[in-house]
Amino acid sequence: NAARTPLMAGNWKMNLNHVEAVHLLQKLSWTLQDKKHDFERVEVAVLPPFTDIRSVQTLVDGDRMKIVYGAQDVSEHDAGAYTGEISASMLNKLGCSYVLVGHSERRQYHGEDDALVNKKIVKALAAGLTPIVCVGEGLEVRKAGEHVDHCVQQIDGALAGLKPEEIRKLVIAYEPVWAIGTGEVATPEDAQEVCAAIRSRLEETVSPAVADSVRILYGGSVKMSSAGGIMAQPDVDGCLVGGASLKVDEFAGICRYLD
Ligand code: PEP
Repeated sequence: NAARTPLMAGNWKMNLNHVEAVHLLQKLSWTLQDKKHDFERVEVAVLPPFTDIRSVQTLVDGDRMKIVYGAQDVSEHDAGAYTGEISASMLNKLGCSYVLVGHSERRQYHGEDDALVNKKIVKALAAGLTPIVCVGEGLEVRKAGEHVDHCVQQIDGALAGLKPEEIRKLVIAYEPVWAIGTGEVATPEDAQEVCAAIRSRLEETVSPAVADSVRILYGGSVKMSSAGGIMAQPDVDGCLVGGASLKVDEFAGICRYLD
């Protein structure tokens, strides 16, 4: 869909200190510049660990990069006695555009549920960040054929109580848990099935206009070689990329899927 600018977002997870982050980002920027990458046509974002973000900001601003950046998580609180947490306003102050919310690794290792994801979305939006809301089923759910229902339920829970004009601003990422970090990429048809179901749900519960404008990404072992097929699907508007985003040539290749 031409109205939705594709987004390629690199989730670095807990990799790269701030020195390594600057190196990788500089190389990525040079590589994309070499290819005369049109960032209006395909948006490129990186999601470094919190400790890298200040350095990333300095580099992006100093070199006037068109690569945007964000964080991998955000607190559901505004400020105060929440040791170890990072607030949405702190991220906004660092120039973050995006923040992942409800990544499957947060759900799995930190017990995050849809209610918490909902609170984090509210805080992110209030601070002017664009949440990238992650949903996706595990292998058992997939084997039982319940993946569509599962993801739609996660969307309902995560978006509960949000106004249409808030939902319009979100990015959603469908990431089947069995495909994350496993090398097991979903087929383009698998990605399309769930992304389309999520869009239909937004059409029913919010409005056709909002459903039509929300970007829905696919994530799970995306590589340069698989990006084109996934991006050819009508309801897939980009990729959330983990492992491959740590390799400049791979990630640049994913961003350049139209070549
Ligand atoms: C992710 O962490 O969001 C992800 C999709 O990881 P990978 O690409 O490594 O499967």
